[in-house]
Amino acid sequence: MDGQVCTSRFLKVIFQHLPDPQKKIAVAYAVAWLRVAGGNSVLPPWVRQQFADVAPILRQLRDTPCNQPECRYCRESHDPDAQLQRYFGFSSFRNEPADAAGGSLQQTIVHCAMGDQPLFAILPTGGGKSLCFQLPALVRYQRRGVLTIIISPLQALMKDQVDNLRSKTGSPNTAALYGLLTAPERGEVLDGIRLGDVALLYVSPEQLRNRSFKEAISYREIGCWVFDEAHCLSKWGHDFRPDYLYAGRFIKEFAREQNALLPPVQCFTATAKEDVKAEIIDYFRRELGQELTLFEGGVERDNLQFEVQMVNRAEKSARVHSLLSERLDPEGGGSAVVYCATRKRSEELAEYLQHQGWDASAFHAGLEAPLKRHIQENFIGGVIRVICATNAFGMGIGQGGCAPGDSRRDPRLSGELPAGGGPCRPRPGGCRLRAAL
Ligand SMILES: [Zn+2]
Repeated sequence: MDGQVCTSRFLKVIFQHLPDPQKKIAVAYAVAWLRVAGGNSVLPPWVRQQFADVAPILRQLRDTPCNQPECRYCRESHDPDAQLQRYFGFSSFRNEPADAAGGSLQQTIVHCAMGDQPLFAILPTGGGKSLCFQLPALVRYQRRGVLTIIISPLQALMKDQVDNLRSKTGSPNTAALYGLLTAPERGEVLDGIRLGDVALLYVSPEQLRNRSFKEAISYREIGCWVFDEAHCLSKWGHDFRPDYLYAGRFIKEFAREQNALLPPVQCFTATAKEDVKAEIIDYFRRELGQELTLFEGGVERDNLQFEVQMVNRAEKSARVHSLLSERLDPEGGGSAVVYCATRKRSEELAEYLQHQGWDASAFHAGLEAPLKRHIQENFIGGVIRVICATNAFGMGIGQGGCAPGDSRRDPRLSGELPAGGGPCRPRPGGCRLRAAL
């Protein structure tokens, strides 16, 4: 069992439980499971239900570090650097932003997240935010086969996020469940969840009201609930989503139905004003009794530039065309997202740009799911270079290019610039927001 379990605890835990005949069977299951640990083997729901001691025994043996230097399992499994190297192939975490002690904030957050602590991290997009929940999710799965669920509003980008993570880590255990999937695709993801093949599942918040989603995850033990773009939880935020607020109740009731401990909640965002932060922390304290530890890494984005230009209504479309002509390579390199205030406006602008010779397309919530998918895939594949989108397109994409804004009512242009931060990870100088007045 060396390297498979915490050796300093193994015999202690086993002998502690063996005298109790009720617990003897739980110990037998735990030991049997340990022999297949680390693969896609998950504890069947009926074992968890009938033998409530199995999960706590395994938690003691594989989830909790003993901090004894001679224990190889704990030394490796609970070490953020070793796990970073293992899954992402990086030898160290990002130095910036730094934590209070001058070390890597990313490493501090990952350490806390791997320890299954409730937390709230504010990190600029492009500051390695996603890794702070992706790496702990993969580690948790490796330790005990548990599922980490990431609630994200960025539906149109989920496929991109899943593909990116799969190619970065070589790990196939990532999936996404959202409204744009076809029925067979959805069925495949649900099967993967039930069978234990999924470590990390992205879902859009409305999935929490979906019966097939709930049925599929009931096959699994939930290791952590992650809220990406957590500012959507706040009524004071610029992007409030009522579905996010239902999540607290869902998490509580689901854990109760599973007869399981309440999993930790971990929140991430690139932006949060003081009242938004306070509201989110208070929400989880009230709903789940969890105290989120706050980590703040600032919202600066050195790799983005913002400009605001004054332009009258009649000139708006022509100015977008000229900005695109200035900023995008005429040979076909680069792409752009133009955020529009309304669906109608996104359609009009896309049509105008098509007449100017751009491979442009509108994107908004009124389009049919297959068409949205088609547009999204063609955009990522470089066939469509310009998307004229409403907020339905989401705000984060790992696509180079520029992002002109075209809306006097764009909430991202008021107050702080969250999503100005949130939207893209462009090449240097590649982001532009334009307010039309
Ligand atoms: Zn140990």
